[in-house]
Formats: sequence, C-alpha cells, structure tokens
Amino acid sequence: MRSSAGSLDNLYLHFPYCRRKCTYCALPSRAVKPDPGYVARLVKELPPGPCKTIYFGGGTPALCDLRPLLDKLSASEFTVELHPLDVKRELLETLKAGGVNRISMGVQSFNDDTLRDMGRGYTADEAHRAFDLVRAYFENSGIDLIVGYPGDRWELEDWGFKHCSVYSLILEEKSILYAQKRAIPGDDETLDRIREVAEALSALGLRRYEISSYAVPGFECRHNLAVWKGEDYLGLGDGAESGLDRSPKERILRLRTYLGLDARDFPAAVSKLDFYVRKGLLEKTGTVYRLTPRGTEVCDSILADIV
Ligand code: SF4
Repeated sequence: MRSSAGSLDNLYLHFPYCRRKCTYCALPSRAVKPDPGYVARLVKELPPGPCKTIYFGGGTPALCDLRPLLDKLSASEFTVELHPLDVKRELLETLKAGGVNRISMGVQSFNDDTLRDMGRGYTADEAHRAFDLVRAYFENSGIDLIVGYPGDRWELEDWGFKHCSVYSLILEEKSILYAQKRAIPGDDETLDRIREVAEALSALGLRRYEISSYAVPGFECRHNLAVWKGEDYLGLGDGAESGLDRSPKERILRLRTYLGLDARDFPAAVSKLDFYVRKGLLEKTGTVYRLTPRGTEVCDSILADIV
C-alpha cells in the first residue's frame, strides 16, 4: 500500500476478497475470508479531505465491513462495485447513508448456463431482482458484461441500467479457464458480438463514451473518465495501482473516450493523427480527433503508434 498522501481528486480502494474465484478472472483477488484488520489498515492510509471521485472495487468490497471507511470518506461521485449476491436492503441502506451514490454490479451474462460455468453463483433472474433492488436506492447504477466467453449467448435485457461496461474476454494465464485449456472465440467473432451489444445498448439510449463503457448521457462514470483523461488517482489496498504525476503519454489515453484528443495538447502527434483520419479510423472536428466506430476496434494499435 502507498502511504497516505495529500488530498487527492480521485481515490480507488481495492478489496481483494471473493466468495470464490470466477473462471475467467485474473484480478488480484482471493477466495478467502476477509482479514478483519484490512479495513482498519485502509482507514489509516486515507488521504485527508473530500475527493472528487471514489471507487471501491475488487474483489468484492461488500465482503468487508465498509462502515469505518464510509464514515471517513466523501465524494461527489462515490461508486461501490457489488456482486449480485451482496445485494440486500440493509447493505444498500448503509451505503446510501454513507454517501455512496453510484453502484456498479457485475452481471457478466444473461445466460444461466454461462453464469453457472463462470462460477458466479446466481441466475440471470436473480441478478435482475438484485438490480431492481439496487435501482430502488440508486438511480445512478449500472452493470458489467463480458463478451466472448466460451459457448455464451444472450440477448441484452433492458433492466433500466444507466451504465454498462462491456469487456471482451481475455484468456489470462492466471485464470481457471486457461488452466482448463478452454478455447475462446476468435477476435472477429468477439468483435461482431461487441457490435451487436453496442447496437442493443444504443437502442436503450446508452451512448458509447469510452471503448468499453456505455452510459445514458449524464451517467458516465466520472472516476473512470478521470483515469482515461490522465488525471492523477491514488489506489489503496493490496494489488491497487496508483497513477500519480502522470505524463503526457498517459494523458493521450483520453483518445479512448468521446472527449478525444485536442491537437493543441499533442502537437507532435498531429501528422499521425491526420494519417488515421485519412484511414477512416479517426474523425476531426475543429482541433479535436475522435475515434470512428471502426477506430474504436483498433484503438490500442493507434495509441501504440502515436505515443
Ligand atoms: S470476477 Fe470479480 S467476483 Fe469473480 S473472482 Fe474476479 S474479482 Fe472476484
């Protein structure tokens, strides 16, 4: 853990405990009982003063008693990630009373066979009911989905989410799927699937504002946008990374977002950016370059080239 610093705009707290390990997951989390001293150690590391954004991620934050942290923290956007099995009225009331105003719930799939295979521990209907309860407390709430899981197939369901993150499955060496030597769909199949999901999200009024993130306008995740825009963030907890004193190289990541890159901030990159405009991967409005839909699919290689 990094020792406490001066007050900071964006704070990320990591909770490395889970009920069990999901098959696709290589995040720094362990299927063990939470260490009762973990939250107390985090409390000691907190920066002073209010933050602009706070994000509790994991792992599964709600497996810990979050109240000592909620007592100390406040932010204009305060997000907690929840697993559908976490969702109970009492917890939601505690979070609300503690100043949390945004919930991100990992759903991952609407297909019961896939959810069982992933080891998620709930059905799509159970996740839906959990999300309905979340929405009763938090208007600003969203879900995470995975595309490209072996054998997975579903139609997007309209649960009234304001935000949706859609991640392509990556076969990580540390995952159970990798150890099981499972084959995952190829890139083209996954890209087609992302296009379908993006279209279905757009029909529900969610705009793609970052490569993996969609939101009803006004419900974009400000914490994630801050990270992509190159703002500093402090990460606390086992396995958390910080981004402090970030370089222009990192600020170029804002190309991932609907904000795009302003040529005046990156004069050295202009000839390459113009090259990608000619290729149809970027579009230029005034001095700002933004990804086209096709550019969104190859953003990583554009970034590697212009950095
Ligand atoms: S996907 Fe989430 S809930 Fe599953 S093991 Fe990873 S961190 Fe834990």
